[in-house]
Amino acid sequence: MIRKLSPHLVHQIAAGEVIERPASVLKELIENALDAGASQIDITYENGGLKSLSVEDNGKGISEEELMLAFEAHATSKISQFDDFEKLQTFGFRGEALSSISAMADLEIWTSCEKEKRGSRGRVAFGAKKKSEAADKRIGTKVQMRDLFSAHPARLKFMKSERGEAMQLLSVFKKYSLAYPEFSFSIKDLETEREHSTHSESFLDRVIWFFGDSEKDHWLQVNAQSADWKMQAVILRPRFQQKVRAGIHLFLNRRPFKDSRLEFAVKRAFEGFTLFTRDIAAVIFLEGSPKLFDVNVHPMKTEVRFLQADTLFSFISKNITEALRSEHLEIQNTKSEVSLKEPEVFSSPSLETDPNRSSRLWDLRPGTSSGSQPLAGQRESLAENAEEKSAVLFEHKSEFEFIDVLDDTYLLVRKNSELYIFDQHALHERILYERLLADFSKLEKIPSQRLLFPQPIPFSGAENLLEHEELLEKLGFEIRQWSKAGENKNQMQSIQLVAAPAILKRGHSEVLSKISESTSRGKETVIRDVLASMACHSAVRAHDRIDTAEIDRLLKDFQSEDALGHCPHGRPTFVRLQIKDLEKMFQRVV
Ligand code: ADP
Ligand code: MG
Repeated sequence: MIRKLSPHLVHQIAAGEVIERPASVLKELIENALDAGASQIDITYENGGLKSLSVEDNGKGISEEELMLAFEAHATSKISQFDDFEKLQTFGFRGEALSSISAMADLEIWTSCEKEKRGSRGRVAFGAKKKSEAADKRIGTKVQMRDLFSAHPARLKFMKSERGEAMQLLSVFKKYSLAYPEFSFSIKDLETEREHSTHSESFLDRVIWFFGDSEKDHWLQVNAQSADWKMQAVILRPRFQQKVRAGIHLFLNRRPFKDSRLEFAVKRAFEGFTLFTRDIAAVIFLEGSPKLFDVNVHPMKTEVRFLQADTLFSFISKNITEALRSEHLEIQNTKSEVSLKEPEVFSSPSLETDPNRSSRLWDLRPGTSSGSQPLAGQRESLAENAEEKSAVLFEHKSEFEFIDVLDDTYLLVRKNSELYIFDQHALHERILYERLLADFSKLEKIPSQRLLFPQPIPFSGAENLLEHEELLEKLGFEIRQWSKAGENKNQMQSIQLVAAPAILKRGHSEVLSKISESTSRGKETVIRDVLASMACHSAVRAHDRIDTAEIDRLLKDFQSEDALGHCPHGRPTFVRLQIKDLEKMFQRVV
């Protein structure tokens, strides 16, 4: 039998969407306090918030007349028409939180607003309006919830232990404290008396507090601006990873949100600078007009839909990479101390078969090797920096002394009193990748070479490639669809490769299959992936025997490029042993 649900039941079901557990109540109450302009927010709780949870703020308060209205469903002071979404500056707009909480718990509010002489108090418990009455004048609002879900045993069953719920409360508290470093927050467990608090401080200090770290030096600040977006980010320098708890925390106009694609944009930016993208710690503040996104995707408002997700992806990724890269330049600069040896000149042939072509295509171009655009304003200083750096490096080119090669793979190299061990494949791969990237960003195209004989492309799904003609062309490939008569006189279609990137030595079909699988991902990601794959298939392999001239060339290239510490897939290109490492190994020092 079909029956219409009673309004009471409908309300309870909707309430369940907003209020999942004490932490979701806390989130709503903190957001209300922030929307009311509070700069100080104090939280207390008992039994993981199930027995009681209160949030006190110094915001603008609610007038006596409006107090009981605030408990009603779809009652809000924040929007009045649909167009208001386009300029939304508040967390709330659905007018659901207080009514939902009071459907699931006993909810009491003490408040007063500045212009009124006295305060007021109102209470609604489990959907039943109790009363409102005059109360003492106070600053701001205190909202107190008791006995959450005590009338909903089914819900209670899904709660974690009280400790587990308390952990979640703490995590909400920390997240909003992070979003508003200029404000003060506190949270207190009334049973254990344990308290955490923060006081107005800088963004960087709040980030350090958030991660439980103590060293400012571990962190790098990245600020960037485009026509649409502004980003303020603090990221953990890759070399301090694993000292600090990992996590990528995104905020949009100070609203915490989750977005796996944008998290990936951050990871993407770190590629080549760390082996372990899962150990990244970063806080990313994005600011942009509400016209560019929609937060009204889900009642919990932790998901966001972006109008131009791709642009934002590359804005984030590019600027973080740029910051990591320019820092890497600085480190290399300070690392190149004065060498005692006279500079020698290398005149080794290149690794390419045709020295003319390779020198035209792959020769050093200091200052242009960076694939991404520096921030506006930093552009000039960065270019200067790169020039300076290359000058330093040219002077010190002879610092590396090749010793021997192990297993036709590992190059032993000495630099003053340091021992370097390079992986020849990883190193060459990385060098080629940097150059492919640089060329691609300059020419928007990878130089191509016609094949003597067209080659069939031997993987299933090769037809998909036909949809990517433009991308293929940019990446230096040309394919053609061939029709030939089959055995039973039917026309057979086959896809053949007629031109390929000049640099590519092998693995054509692996690279092509990367392109054919690429439909669902962002263009920039695909290009990087494909270039990495090209570099991999063009580089010398492990166990390939190479001569000393080629080794010299590799080492020379290593010193003149930025950020070569890892191959494009994140494996290190070298390990370095310094005297202090040896001293440790031999236990001369502890
Ligand atoms: P929303 O935040 O979506 O408007 P809520 O149910 O969370 O809906 O709150 C309803 C209304 O109550 C708000 O629009 C606001 O006017 C008022 N309100 C709630 N909490 C506070 C507070 N801490 N300080 C001042 N006003 C508040
Ligand atoms: Mg609200």
